[in-house]
Amino acid sequence: MAHDTQIDTEDSLDPGDWEDMRRLAHVMVDDAISRLQGLRDAPVWQPMPDAMKAGFRGPPPTGPAPLEAVYADVKHKLYPHAMGNIHPRFWAWYMGAGCLTGALADFLAAIDGSNLGGGDTGANQVDRQVTDWLRQMMGFPEGGSGTLVNGGSMANIVGLMAARNTMAGVDLHTRSVADITAPLRFYASDQVHSCHMKAMNLLGLGGSALTRVATDNAFRMDLAALRSAIEADRQRGARPACVIATAGTTNTGAIDPLPQIADLCRDEGLWLHVDGCIGALFSIAPSSRHLVAGIERADSLALDLHKGLNAPFDVGCALLRDRNVHRATFAESAEYLQVATRGLAATEFLHDYGLETTRGFRALKVWMMLRHHGVERFGRILDRNIAQAARLTALIDAAPDLERMAPTATSVVCFRHAPDGMREADLRAHNTEIMLRIQESGIAILSDTTIRGRHCLRVALCNHRTKDEDIDILVHEVRRLGSEMALVGAAGDA
Ligand SMILES: *Cc1c(COP(=O)(O)O)cnc(C)c1O
Repeated sequence: MAHDTQIDTEDSLDPGDWEDMRRLAHVMVDDAISRLQGLRDAPVWQPMPDAMKAGFRGPPPTGPAPLEAVYADVKHKLYPHAMGNIHPRFWAWYMGAGCLTGALADFLAAIDGSNLGGGDTGANQVDRQVTDWLRQMMGFPEGGSGTLVNGGSMANIVGLMAARNTMAGVDLHTRSVADITAPLRFYASDQVHSCHMKAMNLLGLGGSALTRVATDNAFRMDLAALRSAIEADRQRGARPACVIATAGTTNTGAIDPLPQIADLCRDEGLWLHVDGCIGALFSIAPSSRHLVAGIERADSLALDLHKGLNAPFDVGCALLRDRNVHRATFAESAEYLQVATRGLAATEFLHDYGLETTRGFRALKVWMMLRHHGVERFGRILDRNIAQAARLTALIDAAPDLERMAPTATSVVCFRHAPDGMREADLRAHNTEIMLRIQESGIAILSDTTIRGRHCLRVALCNHRTKDEDIDILVHEVRRLGSEMALVGAAGDA
């Protein structure tokens, strides 16, 4: 018997010595807090040396190791080689910087362990409350509903699937997309995020179902072009189904003309989906909310909480204007998942509102962050990021060797270093090199893009830690490196 007991203890995943584990857990929390406190003085990013990378190969560990040793690797090998988006001077792509409240909440959520697929739990109440808060923050009506997903791509898929099913004219729970009597057509601007192409593929409609509508000089969807695309499709016998408007494009932060697109969708009987991964949360920013007026008229809206809210990865949300449509899109009946009148399953299953069955308790981080900081603080931070984009824009416009490549609509700034006399053909290599040197120096991280065939540096301000002086440092570094390289280049040419 004694022997059996021993085997049981060894094979549990609980600690052998709880007090030891408690001490180590405290160390991890202390280290994490110190890391955040010291961020500003650390490099934003540094590449992992090849020799260290080699240590990440080999067979799976068959036996145990002390957790101290495992944690030492996390601290010494992973911490210094993280992506860097938690740093005040990280502005690549479009990310959030995370926050301690959210990180603690993720830990607590994992300990709680609840599965948000359903169940009568406290976690369920938190999940419902968070989606309802978001519904109110976005100005959606009371009959609306939401579901937390892993990010913007999935939130868009949820909205687009509701659009497809509503516009299909056949019940896609029992029939096939091949039974749809006229081919469905979706419309988005030529600046639309690539996740929508994946969505078209996934939804069985294919890339040809998505028309890429031209944009104006400010990279907003051109309404006349949208109208004629819809008209042409009707004449061809296709069925215009849905306009995907982007509130904050990835390339330049432009916002499609939401009120006009909403009017058009109403008049034409089309579903309006808004990709608000960047811009939806501007709705809570007092000085910027006018930029996304009309967003509340969407039939479905995708928002990204790990971007504008700076929640730790990953969490996004799909909001639907009509709860019944939302549920009708996703609910399937399964004999092993039935709502009961009493007990743990005596409540509506949340997996009836999305594609995932098991879902983690990602609601907790949003709930704790919103309660701890309040909606207004998040709004002010979003306003500040937009003001910092304007500051950067002004610095660029005042510098003779910098050229802005797109209007700054919100929190994204596109520009390049263009010293006097450098040929257009050489500017791409020149700016790419500037970007890489800045990344490798650990001073800042920015990325690049190509707009209408022209390459440029791109700064996306979605970071609650960025201060105005960080913007000044960036401009100084780009100009310093750029002119240094231009001088060397000119000497080489001579
Ligand atoms: C970031 C982004 C997405 C994708 O969101 P993920 O959270 O990365 O899945 C979609 N659309 C736009 C406009 C985005 O900026």
